[in-house]
Amino acid sequence: MLNSRLLLMPELPEVETVRLQLLYKVRGKIIKNVVVFHKKTVAHDPTFSQKLAGLSIANIDRIGKLLIVHFADSTHHLLAHLKMTGQFLFVDSTGISGGGHTMSTTDTTLPNKHTRVAFQFTDGSTLYFNDMRLFGYTKLATLEEVEKARAHFGPEPIAENFDIEIFAKQAKKRNAPIKAILLDQTFIAGLGNIYVDETLFRAGVRPISKGSSLSTPRLRSIARHARDVLSEAIAVGGTTFQHFTDTGGEAGNFTDYLRVFGKQRTPCQVCGTTIIKIRCAGRGTHYCPKCQKP
Ligand SMILES: [Zn+2]
Repeated sequence: MLNSRLLLMPELPEVETVRLQLLYKVRGKIIKNVVVFHKKTVAHDPTFSQKLAGLSIANIDRIGKLLIVHFADSTHHLLAHLKMTGQFLFVDSTGISGGGHTMSTTDTTLPNKHTRVAFQFTDGSTLYFNDMRLFGYTKLATLEEVEKARAHFGPEPIAENFDIEIFAKQAKKRNAPIKAILLDQTFIAGLGNIYVDETLFRAGVRPISKGSSLSTPRLRSIARHARDVLSEAIAVGGTTFQHFTDTGGEAGNFTDYLRVFGKQRTPCQVCGTTIIKIRCAGRGTHYCPKCQKP
């Protein structure tokens, strides 16, 4: 089991897991009242609560790691970013559920000292946004602002319309290390440090290899593995996701499937060669020197 401190920053699979779970819980609910416990979390908008009161949640969308709540018959949209330590916790008569940042000593009494905003619904249930370190936020936005945020992100490998051929063609034009290319959210969105390392291991490609030096079949293979790694991580709830119940937490378990990330100085599961850790694209990078070819 990996040390959870290695995995603090939620990546796309964790945020997608939070999105799916929240959607299931809050779609169709009408906001009765919004209690702001910390002004910074609502981007200093004094009308935040006022604008949201009475709105009905129509859908929850996601751009990269940014969650977007859409409301029925409203020009307002709510952006939410968990950053390092954000959590959404939903409470109704059946208990507490939710996800985001893993906290081993989470106080399940809500609200608590980390609660920043509470969205109270007309049916008596409440959605709490907790954030220990205050980097996360919830913010009102117009449709234009949502579209502007979307423009900063490239296509996601898990999107239905993701085009492997375009990815391979564009990556081939780049002289940066493939690790840096995959981390560039404007080029391909959704892969963070953990999933890039796992993708490149599965594709058998060394992280420092330049995009321009890789063959088209190898680049296609990287794209396919990126899609699979993210889909599998979402299927098991990500690596840092934690599901809370009133009886205690249960961590997401993609950590059990990691083959190189955090495995430095241990034998490769495929060939037995020791996994090494280097710095590449400014990030700790793990790979098998035998399975992953330049
Ligand atoms: Zn190996």
